Amino acid sequence: MRLGAHIGTSDGLDKVPSIARSIGGEAAQIFSKSPHSWRGPPIPLELAASFREAVQREKLGATAIHHCYLTNLASPKPVNYAISKRTFLDELGRAELLGVDAVIFHPGAHTGSGVEAGIDRIAEALRWAVDQTPQGTVRILLENAAGQGSTIGSQFEELAQVIEKVNAPGRLGIAVDLCHLFASGVDFRTEETYGAAKDLLRGSVGLKAVGAFHLNDSKGELGSHLDRHQNVGKGQIGLEGFRPWLNDRSWAKVPGYLETPLTDDGYAAYIEDLRALKGLLA
Ligand SMILES: [Zn+2]
Ligand SMILES: [Zn+2]
Repeated sequence: MRLGAHIGTSDGLDKVPSIARSIGGEAAQIFSKSPHSWRGPPIPLELAASFREAVQREKLGATAIHHCYLTNLASPKPVNYAISKRTFLDELGRAELLGVDAVIFHPGAHTGSGVEAGIDRIAEALRWAVDQTPQGTVRILLENAAGQGSTIGSQFEELAQVIEKVNAPGRLGIAVDLCHLFASGVDFRTEETYGAAKDLLRGSVGLKAVGAFHLNDSKGELGSHLDRHQNVGKGQIGLEGFRPWLNDRSWAKVPGYLETPLTDDGYAAYIEDLRALKGLLA
């Protein structure tokens, strides 16, 4: 796995790659704008170019944008759905401009309109976005959900249905958040349970669909459906629960990003988390 983390952009987008390296990472995930706003200021071309150069210079193995939190491509409300689609397309454009490998997003919540209808809306929106960007190279990764409320994607089977309906081979995949997976009720802390979890992936989206991991421990217990990240080894998953993922050669080229809690002392917690993960490598 290519270990990295979600890095803030307050020092400038083009500083992200060197920050990722300085904490011991070789991959970086970012927000391309505030995650709580629909629109962000356009990214100046020069800044995009210097971001790309910095990625090369620091030899990052993978980069991704995490989509903002407001969009809901499963929304039954027409206005919200329309804005969500627009925002998603805009984010794809920003991703192409920055030359990142992937856009990772939360599929959405059906808010009472039913899982099937929600899946249909997500697929329709993605099909539209793919059609709008025929030359696009950025991979669209649907993140698995912890299963809070009416969120879609706490079952890999739901993500598989979306991918199948969009039918855009190569453009779509999934991001597996280990905190969400654990909170959704899938255990993987022993060799046996890890094998069963991997079989779930194999039998639904397929192993090749996995384009990224989020390496978060979980504050909530197994099956709690709580989306509460914890530092590696300090939550209910525990350090050993990360070992099989890190040492499985199926994921050798897949990036794993930390989204664990940080404190006042900058990235100290990330440095510690990455060190703990590296200590697991066989
Ligand atoms: Zn995540
Ligand atoms: Zn989360």
